[in-house]
Amino acid sequence: MKTILGKLHLRWCMDCNMPVLDKKCGICGKNTTEVKITPPADPRPAFDEDITMISKILKNQFGITLNNNGQSNIFKNKIVLINKIPGTDYMKEIMLDGILFGIIKYNEEKNTWVIMPSVDGARRIINENANKKLIVINREVIPFVLKKHASILRPGVIWASEDIEVEDDVIILVENDNNKNNDDFKDIDVLGVGRSRMSYHEIVNSEKGMVAKVRKSENPKPANILKETGAPSENIEKMIEANKEPMAKFINNSVGFMRNTIKERTNKPPVVAYSGGKDSLAVLLLAFEAFNNENINFDVIFSDTELELPETLKNIQDIEETYGINIITAKSTEFWKKLEEMGPPGRDNRWCSEVCKMKPLEKIINEKYEKGCLTFVGLRKYESMNRSKKPRIWRSPHIKKQMLSAPILNWTAMHVWIYLFMKGAPYNKLYEQCFDRVGCYMCPAMELGEMELIRNIYPDYWKKWDNFLEKYAETHNLDDNWIKSGWRWSYKQENNKNNIQDKSMGTYE
Ligand SMILES: [Zn+2]
Repeated sequence: MKTILGKLHLRWCMDCNMPVLDKKCGICGKNTTEVKITPPADPRPAFDEDITMISKILKNQFGITLNNNGQSNIFKNKIVLINKIPGTDYMKEIMLDGILFGIIKYNEEKNTWVIMPSVDGARRIINENANKKLIVINREVIPFVLKKHASILRPGVIWASEDIEVEDDVIILVENDNNKNNDDFKDIDVLGVGRSRMSYHEIVNSEKGMVAKVRKSENPKPANILKETGAPSENIEKMIEANKEPMAKFINNSVGFMRNTIKERTNKPPVVAYSGGKDSLAVLLLAFEAFNNENINFDVIFSDTELELPETLKNIQDIEETYGINIITAKSTEFWKKLEEMGPPGRDNRWCSEVCKMKPLEKIINEKYEKGCLTFVGLRKYESMNRSKKPRIWRSPHIKKQMLSAPILNWTAMHVWIYLFMKGAPYNKLYEQCFDRVGCYMCPAMELGEMELIRNIYPDYWKKWDNFLEKYAETHNLDDNWIKSGWRWSYKQENNKNNIQDKSMGTYE
């Protein structure tokens, strides 16, 4: 992985309890510690709503106590990061105190979110009065679990919580000297985490058999809980301070690159493609830094696909007002018309990108820039493995007159967020509602968990889409699975010869 993406940037100052994108902490000057995180390793800071969502899941699952804000004290006054793991499942790593706390996962069968805690995470969960999904084992079993990676067998189990069902994520505890009730466990009692193979009912009615498979285990020890760092706004200030050197380096590099590209490498007028997303907002701010003092003018273009959420359209206005600019809109009104004829766009047939983004954009570019233009886009290689080998300047494969350039190609989402916080930039409010990305409210690239988020927050928008799918399924003899998720694949239309696998190079996120 490392050779493809370059280094993984995320480190942690264990003294200041801050994520740092460099070897030294900008606050205390001490060396930082590498954080183990799943590639492509593109974490972002968690917002208030993320913490509320995670806390609710933990309460439902493990029965922990929440404070008056509906949040768990585990996350109180701390920087928490979220790292989306690429793949077909909706999985996100939750980091705090320089460790992996656990993974949020969308369970398709049960239509619900669950958290798979790490052992470190389980210790913190137990400290918050967890009383569900717990299995207590005999101390004599410890060496077999730790050294031989043995599963938990029925004879070793001395207590289990009544809520356990088969295939639950469970915390495995060891008995201690206290006379136990089910509400006085401590971090020191945690041996590991695993997946149950029996329900509570089966456990109490069996004398043998496997009760749980152990996923991770460690010698019981107290949780290494780092200090609280402050309320959210104070934390952001500290995170900026801790990262001032790496940020200055990244900003200077990108600003220099943009100036250089415009002055030396091309004579085309510069354009910033703004999507309403965080990455293109960072590019817009960099363009101000790069060009405003150089008397270089540039246009800002937004592609309105007709599938934008209200927050995105509001954000376009906010940006215009805050920075006193006019954003040119390339508006499409074709989607719902073409849909009847083309069928739903799929991952292997993203006609929507062509129709809703490329065509309107090409029209504007052809009209406005006789000799073409150079468009700066918010593409980043850490977003996905597919993007890791992209060049920094290239010719648009879709629009003849357009050169594309990616000034933040090497930035992670953490760089982007810290930069936006530094600048006090008006970012899209969708990010405060658990969204990792903004864009069309329905997209074949979406995962089920993302669709669930939209369905919850924008039931009307999703209903319109669902109605279409239902009607289409009826006339084309397709089943409920196709309506639920299958539409995102396998819809190559015979009449569409442009089977383009990756349109991401020409889109703006
Ligand atoms: Zn420090």
